[in-house]
Amino acid sequence: MSSEVFYSSLENKRLQSPLNKLKRLFNKCSKNLDFESKQLTAIKTHFGEYGNTAFIKPVYLRPIIDQVMKLQLKPFLVDTNTLYVGMRTNTVDHLHNAALNGFNYSTFQIPVVIADGLRGENTVDVKIENGEILDIAKVASDIYHADAMVVVSHFKGHELSGIGGAIKNLSMGCASRQGKLIMHSTSKPVVNTDKCTSCGLCAENCAADAILLEPKARITDKCTGCTRCVAVCPESTIEIDWNESSENTQKKMAEYAKAVHSLFPNRIFFINIITDVAPTCDCFPANDQSVCPDIGFLSSTDPVAADKASYDLVAKNSKGGQDPFSRIYTEIDPLIQLKHAEKISLGSLNYDLKTVK
Ligand code: SF4
Ligand code: SF4
Repeated sequence: MSSEVFYSSLENKRLQSPLNKLKRLFNKCSKNLDFESKQLTAIKTHFGEYGNTAFIKPVYLRPIIDQVMKLQLKPFLVDTNTLYVGMRTNTVDHLHNAALNGFNYSTFQIPVVIADGLRGENTVDVKIENGEILDIAKVASDIYHADAMVVVSHFKGHELSGIGGAIKNLSMGCASRQGKLIMHSTSKPVVNTDKCTSCGLCAENCAADAILLEPKARITDKCTGCTRCVAVCPESTIEIDWNESSENTQKKMAEYAKAVHSLFPNRIFFINIITDVAPTCDCFPANDQSVCPDIGFLSSTDPVAADKASYDLVAKNSKGGQDPFSRIYTEIDPLIQLKHAEKISLGSLNYDLKTVK
């Protein structure tokens, strides 16, 4: 069965504001959904690591927020803390980073929330229906507790999964840090003892009592992989082994996306922004030039169809009509995540692209 995907090109001979296009794409999806007045509605996006300039322009969120408010819903902008150590590792730094990149209350007049708590510790287990690798997803608690969600994703390349769009935003983007570790790694964090000062902060903060000071810190088998120690270490010396394969990470992403999607029956849809299509993730504090011209926006209630349509549009608009991501990441098949998502009934790779002027 095909899913509807609504598409608006950035080609603009009639000089219409792109913001009106986004508004129309929003309305195409929202009209048949089951939103109820006053529902707390997460607008899930990615605030971009400071130094990166390819992330979604904040102005693109304005019409989306306006339409959410018109439906009498209560929107809040949301992202989650990162697994890697950077400007978005804890809520305080993350909100500062978000404000620097233009995502703040004074721009939008709605709250900005980091959904997994001060140091990424707020997590809720959600069952994964049809999961083949995982049974449980560790989801950021303020996403779990939201009533409805609009997932606004920047479609671009990704160094581990080949592409990043709605599935990536719904999975990695909505997972707590513990969930991100499960998708990225098959092992627990390890201490780089060269930089450890034996300050003991990690051990004090470890709820599993898994860290010994000998006198350098050592993580024992009691570790549950919560990753709190990664966020508290002042020397950034507790490291993640990013050893999971692209294939397994992509499949785990699809399964996490399925779990998060199940939290919002008929109260979730997806908007993909296909501009500044950088080869790498917005988590880098820098970005390379785009792999194709700016293309436009699309919306769908099906995240698989939204990403497949975005992928096809990028290929069609790239040199020789070829997918540029497979050329950059020759070892990665970026469609694994979408095929697995279809297999576990998250959505459809077949879509009916409907142009919205
Ligand atoms: S918090 Fe970091 S520096 Fe301090 S003991 Fe733990 S690993 Fe070492
Ligand atoms: S990951 Fe969590 S459980 Fe494991 S050592 Fe660090 S704080 Fe303790």
